[in-house]
Amino acid sequence: LFRLGVLTSGGDAPGMNAAIRAITLKGLSAGFEIVGINAGYNGIFNLDTQILSAQSVDNIIQRGGTLLKTARCSQLREEDGPRLAAEKLTQLKLDALIIIGGDGSFRGAVKLAEFWPKPIIGIPGTIDNDINGTDQTIGFWTAIDTALDSIDKIRDTADAFERIFVVEVMGRDCGFIAMESGIACGAEQIICHELIEDEETYLAQLYNAILHAVTWRQTQSYVIVIAEHSLSICSAELAKRIADFTGVDTKSAILGYIQRGGAPVAMDRVLATQLGISAVKAVCEGKTGLMIGMKNNEMVEIPFAQTGLKNTHNQDLIKRLKHFNFDLTD
Ligand code: ATP
Repeated sequence: LFRLGVLTSGGDAPGMNAAIRAITLKGLSAGFEIVGINAGYNGIFNLDTQILSAQSVDNIIQRGGTLLKTARCSQLREEDGPRLAAEKLTQLKLDALIIIGGDGSFRGAVKLAEFWPKPIIGIPGTIDNDINGTDQTIGFWTAIDTALDSIDKIRDTADAFERIFVVEVMGRDCGFIAMESGIACGAEQIICHELIEDEETYLAQLYNAILHAVTWRQTQSYVIVIAEHSLSICSAELAKRIADFTGVDTKSAILGYIQRGGAPVAMDRVLATQLGISAVKAVCEGKTGLMIGMKNNEMVEIPFAQTGLKNTHNQDLIKRLKHFNFDLTD
């Protein structure tokens, strides 16, 4: 019996369950036994697995988190880690492995492949949308909707008090969540590191643009959406400096982990289902060492070597943001 292993790794993302379900159902119809590996790569080292049946994945498509749990695994990064993990995979009698995770998880997969010769396929699952080779990752659109819901609420209070608000969203080193949620909530400014060449100059322009807007009362409230890790100062400090410069009460809010949770939106469920099915097809065709992604609405197969992080020189993002942000030289 062909035993197909599946695991979720790195940060959890809404829609991972939908991917597990698709892999399980498609795998079962191909005649495979589906072995869920618990808690990311840790489950390999600990031989911690569960057999997935159609019943186990029933009624999970709408749930956030991941049925298999996820984790970071330091052991795989150790010198002897990948060899040991390969030994464990052999012990588990697995014939192929599908990994749902971020780019770090794919780096782990590449290491594993040096010692384990069977098919390994990746599916991009991270709210950050920071993986090259795919337009979207599972969880991205849900995270934006969650952020948007919170920012809309913050806007209400900002509006009532005529305040400036700095709202920090996730994204690791990538500005996509900030960009999409910022555009959708009508943010007056969107900040992400991709836009900043010289921080001092950028901040001076930003303070002046805000002062201009509040002086001429262009808006009752002023919302700034900022991607985490954009600046060398924290969001609270940025808010303080804006308040000092403009004389307007400025608050900061870090949205944090709520962005990872919640029921996946339709887009993430559909994406996860399509990627899951294609991943099983790739396994059936004996393919290995690649990520299944979605480009221009088409399924694509991208070798792990060509994935990598979409974190710098993201011209597409920079162009769109420059178009939407208020003119900082105002
Ligand atoms: P997210 O971006 O959503 O947090 P991710 O998959 O990028 O997801 P990481 O923590 O970077 O998250 O990676 C997940 C796991 O993959 C790590 O805990 C580790 O076990 C493995 N991994 C990452 N990079 C390497 C590497 N260079 N060598 C071996 N294993 C790695």
